[in-house]
Amino acid sequence: MQKGDVKALEAKIKDDDLLKLFIDLVAFDTRADFTSQDKPSSIGQLRLGARLLNLLSNLKLKPIQTKEGVIIAKVPATQGYENKERLCLLAHLDTAPDASGANVKPALVEKYKGNGIELASGDVIDHEISPELANHLGEDIVVTDGTTLLGGDDKAGIAVLMHLVERLVDDRVVHGPITIVFSVDEEIGRSTKYLDLDVIDCDFAVTVDGCERGELDVATFNAEGAKIIFKGKVVHTAVACGKLKNALKMAADFINRLPEEEAPETTEGRQGFYHVHDVMGNVEQAELMMILRDFEKEGLEARHLFVESLVDEINAKYGINSCEAIFVKQYENMETVLKEHPKIVNYCRQAFERANIPLSEMYVRGGTDGANLSCRGLPCPNIFAGPLNCHGIYECLPVPNLHASFEVTKALVECVALGEDK
Ligand SMILES: [Zn+2]
Repeated sequence: MQKGDVKALEAKIKDDDLLKLFIDLVAFDTRADFTSQDKPSSIGQLRLGARLLNLLSNLKLKPIQTKEGVIIAKVPATQGYENKERLCLLAHLDTAPDASGANVKPALVEKYKGNGIELASGDVIDHEISPELANHLGEDIVVTDGTTLLGGDDKAGIAVLMHLVERLVDDRVVHGPITIVFSVDEEIGRSTKYLDLDVIDCDFAVTVDGCERGELDVATFNAEGAKIIFKGKVVHTAVACGKLKNALKMAADFINRLPEEEAPETTEGRQGFYHVHDVMGNVEQAELMMILRDFEKEGLEARHLFVESLVDEINAKYGINSCEAIFVKQYENMETVLKEHPKIVNYCRQAFERANIPLSEMYVRGGTDGANLSCRGLPCPNIFAGPLNCHGIYECLPVPNLHASFEVTKALVECVALGEDK
């Protein structure tokens, strides 16, 4: 089994500017914090933002930092390309709250041989944890010491965009008007509400975030959440016969009526599901939190009606007003918007071809910032940034993935400038 080597990484970044930039960025602890109401939710995001502001200013750009900590930089077009379509490129500053992002100690596994990777902590990334590793034999891979996440989600995306901006400002890459956005608190679902589309002012956008080499995300779930409230009737157990109604048993009854084969643990690919993620309460009242997911709009509507029918069944069995459901819309499948505005997806497909990276178009079994932006009128698919096993200590980044992400993003800028969408 191979181990990460800190010295080997130090040597490698001497002649790999993009990797060096990435390693510099992961030194910032930008873990998002659910429990904070601050904007952004953690000070580290402001610190990394300040660093990026500095780098962008050194490139003679005039970046701004909004009051929520979002960094926005407009890169003027190459002369003669001012009237081309306006492209926004986004990456996020924060890392997932699931694992520590402090004192990240990256190390390099050289020319991965295929027998798993032992981290300094003794934890092992094997092919069971990470089947994707099998695709990276012979490649250099950046790993953690096993006590933190790596932060490739999404500092790989930030490194790619910064590396690209350096090549845009002196027109080494021909480009139309480009807006770079580094968002905050993506991992805790707050990022897009801090983004002002009038300030961004673009025709379309692309996020560079997460995912294995070659991935282009063009669809997400349609998503709805539901709170189901059960009202019981408390009677002393000594004299409860025929009178007591137990709200907890109603909740259990409700859960049992959900189809077993339509849960996250029993579905994959393009199948939707129901998922109960929280139940709390007592005999008198119980509340159940669940999510409904479906790639088809009609499919989500059918799931909504099914949950309502279960509420009716519970009321029929336990008495009127025993149960009610409150629904909240969460996000919509961006595929609907992207089909109406196919140009940006076509540019992306062309960019993969131009960069010579085999493309796999993916259906994301979740939501993305792009889903939200697309539904607000800014069509926005996602291009891979390259990290694997995100959000935990097994996160790693095959170095060729990082370079491939850069090549595709650069090619995208060129395709848009040259109008190559076929
Ligand atoms: Zn991400």
